[in-house]
Amino acid sequence: MTLQDFKLKMISELSSIYEMDELNSIFNLLSEDSLKIPRSKILLANEIDLNKSNQTFFQSALERLKTHEPIQYVLGKTSFMDMEFKVNSSVLIPRPETEELVRLMLKEDLDGKNILDIGTGSGCIAISLAKNLPNAKVTAIDISKDALEVAKENAKLNNVEVNFINADIFKYKSHKKYDVIVSNPPYVLESEKIIMKQNVLDFEPDLALFVDDNEPLKYYLEIINFSKYGLKSKGMIYFEINKRFSSELKTELLNSKLNFSVKKDFAGFPRFIKAKH
Ligand code: GLN
Repeated sequence: MTLQDFKLKMISELSSIYEMDELNSIFNLLSEDSLKIPRSKILLANEIDLNKSNQTFFQSALERLKTHEPIQYVLGKTSFMDMEFKVNSSVLIPRPETEELVRLMLKEDLDGKNILDIGTGSGCIAISLAKNLPNAKVTAIDISKDALEVAKENAKLNNVEVNFINADIFKYKSHKKYDVIVSNPPYVLESEKIIMKQNVLDFEPDLALFVDDNEPLKYYLEIINFSKYGLKSKGMIYFEINKRFSSELKTELLNSKLNFSVKKDFAGFPRFIKAKH
C-alpha cells in the first residue's frame, strides 16, 4: 500500500465528517508525524510505500478519526505559539484565539513579573509566557490533577520552569501577590452545546469548557474577587471571554472600579479583556 492509496481511503471514509481542506491537513499531519518526512515529500505520496507498522498506525488513526476524535488527540500533540504541546482528553486543545491572548500579553513589558495563570489546562498559556519571558516567574493552577500532569510534561518538553498548583479557584488562598493574572476559564454555556460539533462534545473535557447558563460569569467574578488580595496594585488581569458576554463583564468591571479595554479576536468578536487594578 502506498501513501497515496491510504490518502484516497482516508478521504472516502472521512468525507462525511470533514471538509476537503481539513482532510488534507489531517493527512499531512499524520504523514509528517509517522513517516518523519517534510511536507514537500508528501506530494510524492504515490511513490511512498507504507511498511506494515506504518499501515497499522494509519489504519488505527483512521478508526479513531471516524469516531470524530480530534486529530490532536489521535497524535497526542499539537502546536501552540510555535511550540509543541502534548494533549489528551484531560485538557482542552489549545485554540488560535488563545494564541492571540498570549500575543496580546507579549506586547506589554511583562518580563520579570510574577504571573498567575488560572485554569491552566495543557499549560499552553503559562508555558508559552514562560518561554517568551525568561525572567518572569510563572505560577499556574488547575482544579484537575490529570490536566496538571499534562501541563507538567509540557513544561519539561519546552524546557521552562512553571510552578504548578492543584487548586480550585473558589477555594484557593494565595499568600503571594501577583503582578499579572491571566485566565481562559470555562465560558461556553450548557445551552450552547446544541451548536457545538461532536468532536468537541464527545472528546474535550466538559470541565474545561462549560459553565451553567445561570452563572455565565462565575469564574470571572471569582477571579476579580481573588484579584482584590491576590494582585498587586496597578497589576493586570487578562481574560479570554465568551463573545456573548462582553457587555455584562464590562458592567462587572465598572462596578469593581477596574480600568479595562475589550479586544477583538481575528474573527472580529470581542474576545479578550485587559483590566488594570
Ligand atoms: N474557545 C473555546 C471553544 O469555543 C472555549 C474555551 C473556553 O471555554 N475557555 O471551544
